This record gives sequence, structure tokens and C-alpha cells, in this order.
Amino acid sequence: MNDDALWNMKASALLELMAAGEVSSVEVVEAFLDRISEVEREVGAFLEVMQEEALAQARRIDKLRQSGEYPGLLGGIPVAVKDNICAAGAGCTCGSRMLADWTAPYDATVVRALKEQGAVIIGKTNMDEFAMGSSTENSALGVTRNPWDLRRVPGGSSGGSAAAVAAGEVPLALGSDTGGSVRQPAAFTGVTGLKPTYGRVSRYGLVAFASSLDQIGPLAADVKDLCLLMDVISGFDERDSTSEDRPVPSYSQALSRSTRGLKGGVPKECLTQGVSPGVRRCFERALEMLEELGIDIKEISLPMTRYALDCYYIIAPAEASSNLSRFDGVRYGVRAETESFEKMYMRTRRNFGPEVRRRIMLGTFALSAGYYDAYYLRAAKVRTLIRRDFKRAFEEFDIILSPTAPTSAFLLGERTQDPLSMYMADVLTVPANLAGLPALSVPCGFEEVPGSGGGGEGEMVRRLPVGLQITGRPFDEETVLCAGHAFYQAVAPGVEAELARMRKGLGRASQGSTRCCVQGSG
Ligand code: GLN
Repeated sequence: MNDDALWNMKASALLELMAAGEVSSVEVVEAFLDRISEVEREVGAFLEVMQEEALAQARRIDKLRQSGEYPGLLGGIPVAVKDNICAAGAGCTCGSRMLADWTAPYDATVVRALKEQGAVIIGKTNMDEFAMGSSTENSALGVTRNPWDLRRVPGGSSGGSAAAVAAGEVPLALGSDTGGSVRQPAAFTGVTGLKPTYGRVSRYGLVAFASSLDQIGPLAADVKDLCLLMDVISGFDERDSTSEDRPVPSYSQALSRSTRGLKGGVPKECLTQGVSPGVRRCFERALEMLEELGIDIKEISLPMTRYALDCYYIIAPAEASSNLSRFDGVRYGVRAETESFEKMYMRTRRNFGPEVRRRIMLGTFALSAGYYDAYYLRAAKVRTLIRRDFKRAFEEFDIILSPTAPTSAFLLGERTQDPLSMYMADVLTVPANLAGLPALSVPCGFEEVPGSGGGGEGEMVRRLPVGLQITGRPFDEETVLCAGHAFYQAVAPGVEAELARMRKGLGRASQGSTRCCVQGSG
């Protein structure tokens, strides 16, 4: 590979090249399709690649450009979409056997907005079933591997979208974030990801998991690219009653604002939650860098966030149990044909995987007569207290800083037998969902973990990306993105050198070379 391959470039750079007439959208899309076929055997980010449709759209964009028309903000740029967001005519499996053969009849509002702005939907990405999980291992339809270390998970539940961006299979992707599913995989794969404020981005056409928490969010290699997506997907939609009718700024333009004098709070609770020494070191170094950027940093306390994970694991399953009742064999997806209605219903619902069943049972229990007050109502009250903690903090501070996840990417299979350890991966991300706040994950360094060892290509240590989380006031994505951008520019040389190295190492499987060999012969 060469470092200036089209697929190795950011969306912002590709847009400039296309505007200048130096490359066509067809060339760009072909470069990414080639990259997908080169590395997909190893990474497994996609459930569906829409090659024909993508090329047809690219040709349309090229024609528009040739005739002097503006092709839109994302004219000719490939975008991958998580497989719980509807794109008309494509599958929308939610990583579940339940919807394995279901085709979306319409475009989600975000997908329609992308198309209107000239984006090229290139494929649908793998995810934990119905977005329940933190590693993408709960997908019933395939395994996605972390491109930084193929023995490891990409995070989840938007693991396919994150891995695709990290591996250079696509420059931009959409995910959804109910408790961390955009930010945590972004952190695990060394890319940026944003959960917008609740109400900022329409969820029409997103398959609901927990409606009071779900938000669609963008993933990209850097904050500048992330803003391109935000500029396209943000805004009011009368088809989503929770979307807010307020003016949308240009996020791309906000990036030029100064960060000097911003006040950043570091909750003292965030480093007590099982944070690994490597993540802590990266985070502390990140705080120093933010101070060098003129951001004023102080320790704060958000005492109620200690209960955020407990609270989340009542509220999210409760809402899920209600939302998922629609998968009954009558209206959507598979149907088990049997003699009685009741059997049909029961057999059909056996198509849910174990984690989804667990959530439905937990949620149904938490909502049931006699337990509602003790569980759901109580969790709702704790949620209010968590919101208040943030509200108070934002009277004094502009942004709140923490690591995105307590650890870097774990090994495939490491946590699948222990749901609680899996849930712990979200301990630092769920507070922003409970409080409805915008939160960004941006790469902030690397943690060293044992490599595969041995001779040949087996190395002794492996460097895994770590994410910094920046949380902001409701609807103040601008400050969050602006601080994230300033920070990313400071770390970019190091981060991008590692990224280029990682990308170079991918794709060997499809070239037919063997991974390990007698020393000296490789
Ligand atoms: N990992 C969390 C869960 O399993 C969050 C998932 C998400 O944000 N969709 O619920």
C-alpha cells in the first residue's frame, strides 16, 4: 500500500480533491471497495456491501460535478451505516436472526439527509444484536475484529462502523449510542466518535433499543471529518417527536474557535471505576496537553454518577423489553410457522440471542406489578439526581473530561461468559446518555499490552488506542468538538503514524501470505 492511497485519506481531503477535479467520485468509491475486499476477511466490519448502488450513486455525483452543479456537502464520499438504521432496499438486521431477512422499506431521516448531500452509502455494518453489548460479540451474524489486533474486540455495539473507519474501509460511518456504543468502539479502534445531545439528531428509522437514551452518532478518523457528518445529520425532524426544533450551527465552522480559557472539570469518581494503569497514564498526559492548550482544569465531584451503571441497567432493559415486543412474528422479521398462535409467538421469539433475552427478562421484571416502584421508578429518580450533578457542574465548567472506557480493547471471548464485566466497559459512558448530554471520544494515546509473543512476526507488546471523553452542556456540541479538535491536532502526528502502520499491516490474509513462518523466511 502507499500512504497517499485514496482510501487512506480523510473525507475532508477527498472532498477537496474531487472539487478540484483531480479525482472522481467513482475513483474514490472504487478505492474503498477495493480496500474492503482487501481487508474484510480479517476485519469483518460489514454485514452488507452495496457495491452496485454505491457505484451508481458515485456516477451520479460525478455527472453533477461535471455539469457544474453542487453535489452536496458530502458529494461523492462513501459512508457506512450501522445495521440498525434503515436504508431503503438494504437489509437492516440489527445483528439479529430475528431480522436476518428483513429489508428496510424506507430511509431513516439521517440516511435521507446523507443521500441528499451526495454521500454514497457503501454498506451496512455489524453490531451487537439490537445494540446490546460492548464488543460486537453479541452479533448473531458475524465476528468483527479490532484492526489494531485481530485477537481483540472492536468494542460495541457499533463495532462494525468503528472497525471499518479504523481499517480504512470507509472514511465516515454512523453508529448509535444508548450507553456508549459510538464512543467506546471509537476509543477501542483509535477513531473519533460523538454521541450528540438527546434530540439533536433524528432517530426516525433507527430501530429502537431504549428510547429515552438512544442517539445516532457519527464516527470518523478525526474531528474535522466528524463535523462534516454532524453538519449533515443534525436538526429537527417532525417524524421524531423527541427531536428538538432549534437552530443548528455549522460544526465545521465552530472548529476555528479558540479553546483558551475554557474550564474543564475532571470528576474524581471517574478514575476509581476499574481504570487500567495504561489508560490512566494516557488520560493524565491528555490533561497536561489540554492545559498546554489553555484549558483550565480542576477536579470536581459528580457523586451520583457512581450509580449510573446500575441505573442504566434498569432503565435500558425496561425500555428494551417494551420496544422489542414488536418482534412477534406478525409484523416484522422471521415467523416460526406452527399450529397455534401462542407457539408461533414463542418459537419466533427464540430467535433472540442470549443477551437480548436476558435484557427482556430483566426489563420485564423491573416493570412488573409490585416491582415497578422498587426498580424502574427508583432508577428514574436516581437518573434525575445524576442529571442534577451535571447541571451543577456545568454552571462552573464548560466541559467534563474522563477516559472513554476503563480499559483498551479486550480479547475476543474474554468477557462473553461474564455479563457484568462486559457491562463495566460502559461505566464511563452511560452517564452522558442518562443526562442526555453530548459526549465525544477522541484518541489520546496508546496502552501497551502483551502481544502475541513468539518469534517471526509475533511481537512482545502491542499498542492499543485509548480514548479521551469530552462531555458538554446540552446542545453545546460546538464547545465539545472545538476542544476535541484542538486536542486531536496536538496528538495527531503520533496517532496517525501508528494508524498508518496498523493499516499497512492489514490485508495479508487476502494476499495469500501466511501469518507466521520460520524466522527469516518471511
Ligand atoms: N454496551 C451498552 C449496552 O449493552 C450500551 C449499548 C449501546 O450504547 N447501544 O447496553
